[in-house]
Amino acid sequence: MGLMDKLSNSMSQTAKSFTKLSANMVEISKLNLSIKKREEEIQQKLEEIGQYVYSRFKKMSMVSRAEVQDLILEIKVLEEDINTLEKLILNLKRLNYCEGCQLELDEDARYCPICGKLLRH
Ligand SMILES: [Zn+2]
Repeated sequence: MGLMDKLSNSMSQTAKSFTKLSANMVEISKLNLSIKKREEEIQQKLEEIGQYVYSRFKKMSMVSRAEVQDLILEIKVLEEDINTLEKLILNLKRLNYCEGCQLELDEDARYCPICGKLLRH
């Protein structure tokens, strides 16, 4: 293989890696956005609970857990969603990136071809 062939070959490999890498990053930023949206929803629901508790305390009346039970359950579901989304992000990062140089790699690669790092499986 001539030098130019080798060069263009490694160039297209690099280009391919960057294309995959940016596709992954788009995916990850979408997931991050979903997490952010859910965190905002949780914040809103916490405020609702806070307002309920405050209005009761202000009137010196009892606070009933039953009245905010739905909100508490909704927050719990949102928290579980966030947990799942965070795991998805971790998987995207772990399966497809070299920890050493951030190169996107095939799932079955044992070594990073760029920095030579041994990859975990
Ligand atoms: Zn590497």
